[in-house]
Amino acid sequence: LVAYGGPVRADSGPAPYLDPQLSVEDRVDDLLDRMSLDDKLGQMTQPERRYVTPEEITRYRLGSVLSSGGSAPSPNTPESWADMYDGLQKAALAGPLRIPMMYGVDAVHGDNNMVGATIFPHNIGLGASRDPALVREIGAATAAEMAGTGVDWDFAPCLCVVRNDRWGRTYESFGEVPELPTVMTTLIDGLQGDELGGPGSVLATAKHYVGDGGTDGGDDRGDTRISEKELRAVHLPPFRAAVNRGVGSVMVSYSSWNGLKMHQNKYLITDVLKDELGFKGFVVSDYNGIDEIDGKRGFSEDEVASAINAGIDMVMVPTEWRRFIDYLRTAVKDGDVPMSRIDDANRRILTKKFQLGLFEHPMADRAYLKTVGSPAHRKLARKAVAESQVLLKNEDDVLPLDSDDKVFVAGRSADDIGMQSGGWTITWQGEPGPITPGTTILDGIRKAADSSAAVTYSKDGSGIDKSYDAAIAVVGETPYAEYHGDLTGDMGLDADDLKTIDRLHASGVPVIVVLVSGRPLDIAAELPDWDALVASWLPGTEGAGVADVLYGDTAPTGRLPVTWMREAAQEPINKGDGKKPLFPFGYGLTYDD
Ligand code: BGC
Repeated sequence: LVAYGGPVRADSGPAPYLDPQLSVEDRVDDLLDRMSLDDKLGQMTQPERRYVTPEEITRYRLGSVLSSGGSAPSPNTPESWADMYDGLQKAALAGPLRIPMMYGVDAVHGDNNMVGATIFPHNIGLGASRDPALVREIGAATAAEMAGTGVDWDFAPCLCVVRNDRWGRTYESFGEVPELPTVMTTLIDGLQGDELGGPGSVLATAKHYVGDGGTDGGDDRGDTRISEKELRAVHLPPFRAAVNRGVGSVMVSYSSWNGLKMHQNKYLITDVLKDELGFKGFVVSDYNGIDEIDGKRGFSEDEVASAINAGIDMVMVPTEWRRFIDYLRTAVKDGDVPMSRIDDANRRILTKKFQLGLFEHPMADRAYLKTVGSPAHRKLARKAVAESQVLLKNEDDVLPLDSDDKVFVAGRSADDIGMQSGGWTITWQGEPGPITPGTTILDGIRKAADSSAAVTYSKDGSGIDKSYDAAIAVVGETPYAEYHGDLTGDMGLDADDLKTIDRLHASGVPVIVVLVSGRPLDIAAELPDWDALVASWLPGTEGAGVADVLYGDTAPTGRLPVTWMREAAQEPINKGDGKKPLFPFGYGLTYDD
């Protein structure tokens, strides 16, 4: 490794970059002067925790580490997260210049990798709430729960504008029009606080830049084939808003724009995002994003050079990070990547580290551990759930229920925290079952009813008779994330769910369907048999918020954040005229209707 200036001046004590009295700019200048090429390459490299040892963090001067949702087993208590973070941070600080690392996770609906955290509704539900102030509070609560574990960087919010609900990431979108993700950039204010580095704040990420929700066929990581005019009108506005709010980082999309991978798109990353929009933070690649540039698996030196030259400052390179460093070093030595680009990337990354206060307070702020899953946060999540419910049908005012009604509850999603939380919960894909503490929708219904004896539950609907005032079918999608959730077929309900609903319907009792799904499903044929329909989206751990609406403790105010197609063949429903949807964008009833 090349010689470096070192953190301590022989003559006069600590180097200027360690002096918190100096401006961030001066500190960055001073630090950059002391850094070797290896120091700089390390800062631009983000391996996954599973594939790096503390010793390697020290030796390669690595700038950041991530846990992807897929990196199970994660530490399973908040304290063990903090212990892990502190251990890795110590390793970073043992490097020659004592540069702290940043740790990034996908806390996309609460700090969702951590058992016991408050899990908020996924973005699509928050889009339905039309409540940017609430979303800001959710950001602050998420940041507080993260802060106790030390994790200082959140790969959220996803500002995708979903244009085709077949896309498996539809639920990560606040909605299909640019205005919704744009107003919901308040999440960034909540996460980052009034000022980066304030207590309980984390660095936010606007992702995935740009056009991720506009691919042909709704293919995840697909090609967005639209004019620049449309790209700017539909997909760019939320990023402009995020930049204006001072978002610290931006993640590049796996998708392409008219055949060119975003990870090599210098025009959009450097000319538009950095120069035109004035983004001052740093750009991070997506997970293995540089692998995809030439369409083949694995990355070459050319791909590394083209990504860095396009303006990517840090590369999320989970496993092959040593090779990445070698390739980038060669590219710099061969003149394929100018040193000025390496310095610019480092300047951007280090500026955020100084602003976060990491040089002064590198370790987990454990005082925040008590906020994890706290009553106050769960109350906020419950409110968010209630606000995100969209009442789509309410024949003969079957809703709201009376607390003394005799109610029969059924369905795969009725009593299942995993189902109601969806993907990106504890694991990347999520899964059914009691994966983390919370209140199921059935628990919530039981508590809302006068006596729990008034509520009968059977998962598949068997056993219902005519003695009930209402039957509630809680049905929908099983958890998925990213391309695993892409739909090519008819987007209909699961066969088991249909059977359950049929059993309830056959009893003659009025049927209320609560749909727990990440997107609209094709329900047009069945809807006439249902007396009421509530789109619940993916509410997270606080199922009582659904009951609050069913029982009228909170009047429904949610509005559709996406157009609800009449049949899957209409997708993309918001492209082209003359398609009659089942429910238009913005639709939503309330009890006064
Ligand atoms: C996703 C990103 C995520 C990253 C890290 C990728 O597969 O596209 O949204 O931030 O993984 O987990």
